[in-house]
Amino acid sequence: MSGASPSSVQISSAYGQLAAVLGEGAVLGPGSDLSAYEDPYAFGSSAGFRCSGAVLPKSVEEVRAVLAVANRHGIPLWTVSTGRNLGYGGAAPRVNGAIVLDMQRMNRILEVDEEHGYALLEPGVRFLDLYGYLRERRLKLWMSAPSLGWGSVVGNALERGIGYTPHGDHAAQICGLEVVLANGDVVRTGMGALPGANTWQIYKGGYGPSLDGLFLQSNFGIVTKLGLWLMPQPGGLTSCVAHFQRESDLEAAIDVLASLRRRQIIQSNAQMGNVVREVAHRYPRSRWYDGPDAMPDEVIEKIRQDLGLGWWWTLRFGLYGDEELLDARFRIVQRAFSSIPGAEITGQKHLASGPDGLYACEVEGPAGRLAGVPGFFALNALKFRGDDCGHLDFSPILASSGREAVRVYEFVKARAREHGIDYLAGFTASERHLTHVFPILYEKRDAEQTSNAAALLDTLIKELGKQGIGEYRAHLAFMDLIGDQYSFNMHALRRLHEALKDALDPNGILSPGKQGIWPAASRRQRAGTR
Ligand SMILES: Cc1cc2nc3c(=O)[nH]c(=O)nc-3n(C[C@H](O)[C@H](O)[C@H](O)COP(=O)(O)OP(=O)(O)OC[C@H]3O[C@@H](n4cnc5c(N)ncnc54)[C@H](O)[C@@H]3O)c2cc1C
Repeated sequence: MSGASPSSVQISSAYGQLAAVLGEGAVLGPGSDLSAYEDPYAFGSSAGFRCSGAVLPKSVEEVRAVLAVANRHGIPLWTVSTGRNLGYGGAAPRVNGAIVLDMQRMNRILEVDEEHGYALLEPGVRFLDLYGYLRERRLKLWMSAPSLGWGSVVGNALERGIGYTPHGDHAAQICGLEVVLANGDVVRTGMGALPGANTWQIYKGGYGPSLDGLFLQSNFGIVTKLGLWLMPQPGGLTSCVAHFQRESDLEAAIDVLASLRRRQIIQSNAQMGNVVREVAHRYPRSRWYDGPDAMPDEVIEKIRQDLGLGWWWTLRFGLYGDEELLDARFRIVQRAFSSIPGAEITGQKHLASGPDGLYACEVEGPAGRLAGVPGFFALNALKFRGDDCGHLDFSPILASSGREAVRVYEFVKARAREHGIDYLAGFTASERHLTHVFPILYEKRDAEQTSNAAALLDTLIKELGKQGIGEYRAHLAFMDLIGDQYSFNMHALRRLHEALKDALDPNGILSPGKQGIWPAASRRQRAGTR
């Protein structure tokens, strides 16, 4: 690949050949409606991330045919499964002119093994599809879903997405991949390399180095099948909500929570949110405030009074198991949080109606998320700052401790206020780390607010980067900047990634720039390089 954008002659020749191998209906060339491949929350320079078209293969053979054309013409592809990577760029590509390789038509659920608890999926399978499949067949298995159910199980797991059951670390449930490399070779990782093995989705290790991780947040291959562990359905679920009265309760609450998570008393990702975040999921901000700056403290106080909210922080999580276990866990959790004055905790038990355990569909409603039921409630927050609300996610990883949470909370709160952005603070507690999830919301039509949102994200990445805090996931426009922070030993990790990139994809056609990894010929496109 030359590194320059492909010429119009190259592009039109490539689209002609793609239509010949895939059929007209599977190719959206220049001139087609490509709005589905734009970042719905595009801002400033990110509006420049435009594809020249998209292809929608239906089989591994068709994926290989697309690769052959892309290699011949030196045209970059940008792989998405369903392209709902909202807050991080959606389905838009990192480089202009790329062809989106949209895998949504490869949407078969190839296998679900109830006994061993796994599924083998193609990339186009949405959370809604897998849920429907398990439900219709009354399989005694639960999946885990992110807050929005329309995305791809495979795409989300490859991005290291987060859900809210004990299987909520989606990448950790991956067991075995099928990957098409840039040269068209088809590789199965782990036990999948052994013809006739029935352990591909059962044993992660395989023989020799483990390679699954190479294809997560990566541009080294195209994942065409993914094995995912599913959870045997438990006897019951207690959906818990805890409230903490004061802003200053954050430190103690996170310390207690961290210990409960590490000891696996609380078994799922627990979500702590401040009062602004809670309110944003239910009401538009304009009900109380329409100033261009961040909501002042007096306004937040007024909201609390109007809504009768006697608390500052809300924590949501599930407890899982048979009734005796649920009761014991709840008592331990109650006792632990009672060390925080004024803390209140409630739990609603959902118990199995028969001997098979609790079917996830018996938990539909607000607690459904804790049983992996896909939903759309989180979309409400996107109306908080107006009908045409943009959204950028800031999601650094912190060590799970109260002191660390407070340090980052105060730092981010001050920077958000300086930039006129409301701070919807969220901490998702895993066993050893917190994911700080801050959806930066802005009114897209307001140019100043939009540029403030981007400037805020830029500042947070750089300033927290200096303090050793890095993000786990990146919007297209910030992939290079975030990669810049991971600089140990003169960017040894980036050099290794790029050595692998050049070996596996010498023409640099697979998702150039993904996660700040550039192929040799287009390395100059890294932001800040020129
Ligand atoms: C209001 C709101 C709430 C959200 N809540 C959550 C949440 O709770 N948890 C969470 O994790 N996310 C959340 N998100 C972010 C996002 O919507 C989801 O993560 C979503 O599932 C990602 O989109 P997708 O599944 O369509 O993946 P895709 O967009 O298809 O894929 C994501 C990326 O993975 C890579 N990729 C995809 N498929 C392949 C493949 N076959 N081979 C190689 N690489 C591939 C590509 O780089 C792609 O850009 C939220 C977003 C919003 C707006």
